[in-house]
Amino acid sequence: MGRKKKPSNKSNGGADNSDNIVKSCKIKTNGNNSSKTDESTSSQISILDISSRLTLPLKPSGVDLSVDSDDEEILEFQIRPRFFYVSSLCLVCMNICEIRCDDCGMVSYCSEKHRNENKQQHMALCKVLLEICGGMEGFSLAKTLPPNLYRSFRIKTISLIENKIMRPLDLWEREIVLYPRICGSCGQVKELICCPTCGVDFYCANHQQNHVKWCKDFQVFRKILWMQHKHGFIEPDVPVVYYKEAHVLPENFDFLIYEMYRNSPSYRRIDSYTYASLSHVATAPLTALFAMQKTIPDWTTRTHFRIHVIGAEFQFECSLLRVWEKLFLHFIPRLKNLTIEFTGPELNLPPAPADLLGKIKMCRPCKSGGRRIHISFNPRKLYHDLKNESPADLICLFNPGLYRETGFDNIDTWPGTIMKFCAEKVPVVITSYTDFEIPRDVDRIKSIGDVKVLLEPQRNPFGAVKPDRNFVSDDVVPLMYKNHCISIVKGI
Ligand SMILES: [Zn+2]
Ligand SMILES: [Zn+2]
Ligand SMILES: [Zn+2]
Ligand SMILES: [Zn+2]
Ligand SMILES: [Zn+2]
Repeated sequence: MGRKKKPSNKSNGGADNSDNIVKSCKIKTNGNNSSKTDESTSSQISILDISSRLTLPLKPSGVDLSVDSDDEEILEFQIRPRFFYVSSLCLVCMNICEIRCDDCGMVSYCSEKHRNENKQQHMALCKVLLEICGGMEGFSLAKTLPPNLYRSFRIKTISLIENKIMRPLDLWEREIVLYPRICGSCGQVKELICCPTCGVDFYCANHQQNHVKWCKDFQVFRKILWMQHKHGFIEPDVPVVYYKEAHVLPENFDFLIYEMYRNSPSYRRIDSYTYASLSHVATAPLTALFAMQKTIPDWTTRTHFRIHVIGAEFQFECSLLRVWEKLFLHFIPRLKNLTIEFTGPELNLPPAPADLLGKIKMCRPCKSGGRRIHISFNPRKLYHDLKNESPADLICLFNPGLYRETGFDNIDTWPGTIMKFCAEKVPVVITSYTDFEIPRDVDRIKSIGDVKVLLEPQRNPFGAVKPDRNFVSDDVVPLMYKNHCISIVKGI
């Protein structure tokens, strides 16, 4: 992270023919949902979703230069992604591998060269892994237990390892135990086949079929890990369209990106990694905008709007705040002041002046129109402990896992928060990583507060398409997505 002045040269890094994009939005300024033309009918067949982008070449570029630049000082967060452990990939270079560590048998390498290179570093952990896990048989046995017991087995194994090695494990080291080389269906650990297409998941001779429906997701997952390992986190281009009338979101993220890039050849070149990253940074503002359009009847004419984001984490919700301008503010031209307040016990701010952290670099039309986005943070605070904050128009809880009673620091603080947001009697958006969680989250709210459901639990059309591995319900789905499902409730 550092303070940077952006160079003021415009390049083709952003939407590479921004003229066309502005032109295309002019076509669409006649009404909220401009009538579908034959152009849009023909376009529908050419929508490229994440899996149709898998074959496109990955390109390690994509810094957004589409905003009018001047010498204004802004903060940029260069978040170096951590290392991710995947049992089929080399611990050194993340290439596919077949050589396993002779001793612990739990990590692998692409070559003798990389095994030797890593030998010294791996030694201490290897010894403890061998001692505690003793090969993979224990995992195989534990996998025959009910899913929650198999999960506690892995958590306990981690704490045994930590006790023995006398330090907390890094996140990637924990993943050796959380996601071991095992058939996810039956727990077999011998004679496993690594899927030749995605190169990530293992299965036994009997359970290939269970993997097939996830293979594309695993392919995206691998491309993401590969790109992050090679190039660090690459900020994706965010398309810019200036709508002159309040713009109703189309049916989902794929349609929106198509619509925003209309006429631009760069649309066809967005690779799966970039597309996944774009969905990841776009999902918070788009989900909030979707909820606003669904539940606030006069949303098109609001001049002020205040959003509270509860249970926020800096890395996910706050590291790229300027997307709120492009993917929220620009859709509501009459909106002058958007206020977003982030609160959460796990909200840890990077060391930087508070005024700069919440500062968003606005585009020239917004600046000259006097439009503002006000950002404030309540780091390490519980929502129900806040005093005297201004009432929100919309409350967002992104992937909170309300149904889990283990909460933050093993204390269940949700009841207080649920009671407070129900009492505010405004729409509350809840999202979840999986289909499994969202009905449980809503049930939890109903068990504590008096609410009506404005939007029944369902797939979020603006959820991220960037996969993460799933641990908490890994017996149901191996991968999960930020804001995958959504529901909206309101206190009565
Ligand atoms: Zn290697
Ligand atoms: Zn080893
Ligand atoms: Zn199996
Ligand atoms: Zn596969
Ligand atoms: Zn703007």
